[in-house]
Amino acid sequence: MEKRIVVAIDGPAGAGKSTVARQVADRMGFLYIDTGAMYRAVALWASRQGTAFDDHHNLTQLAIAADIDLQADRVFLNGEDVSRAIRTPEIAAAASRVAAVAGVRRALVEKQRAFGARQSVVMEGRDIATNVFPDAQVKIFLDASAEVRAHRRVAEAGGDPAIVAREIQDRDHRDRTRAEAPLLQAPDATYLDTSHLPPAEVVEEILRLIRARTSNGKAVTS
Ligand code: C5P
Repeated sequence: MEKRIVVAIDGPAGAGKSTVARQVADRMGFLYIDTGAMYRAVALWASRQGTAFDDHHNLTQLAIAADIDLQADRVFLNGEDVSRAIRTPEIAAAASRVAAVAGVRRALVEKQRAFGARQSVVMEGRDIATNVFPDAQVKIFLDASAEVRAHRRVAEAGGDPAIVAREIQDRDHRDRTRAEAPLLQAPDATYLDTSHLPPAEVVEEILRLIRARTSNGKAVTS
């Protein structure tokens, strides 16, 4: 069987991960996995059930039971299309709270590894290169200035720029300082600052890295 390739793309909110990861996956013919959508789906289910953020047992049970299906740009939770419902600021904040629960992470990381075991993937998140696939052939850490990241979110989804900037700052702080698999650049990841780079250039740079580290998109077997 041909060995699969994992392209891991990590970084804070608004760094441009989704846009870029999706395009890289399209160009390579790899599966695109948005792991943030998985944490958001669990957060949505928890908020509908009224499960408290400190109820680690029940949050973990939800994460284990959640049937999360990612199809192109659609996200399904237990068969329901929740693509829009998971994109609210409330669910973004809730996702970063449930993502701090060790049991939730264990359950979702297991599902993420299962996706990557079946086929070549471009997987984006916060801990892909450090934790989910530490042996990924290509590791990218995407970043941008706080101003640019807030500006992108406002352009995408609207809202008051000062409030959006504050929400992103709070969420990043939680993601960087949690005990379980915090947002961190892997020592062997390539750092790309996208503040002043158009997405197309970021995509080309990542494709160059993939070609350099693989045999034209196929895993090098040694
Ligand atoms: O990427 P996105 O903004 O949709 O992620 C929502 C939240 O899910 C993040 O703020 C983070 O707390 C959590 N997350 C995570 N690990 C990942 C992906 C997302 O903790 N691999």
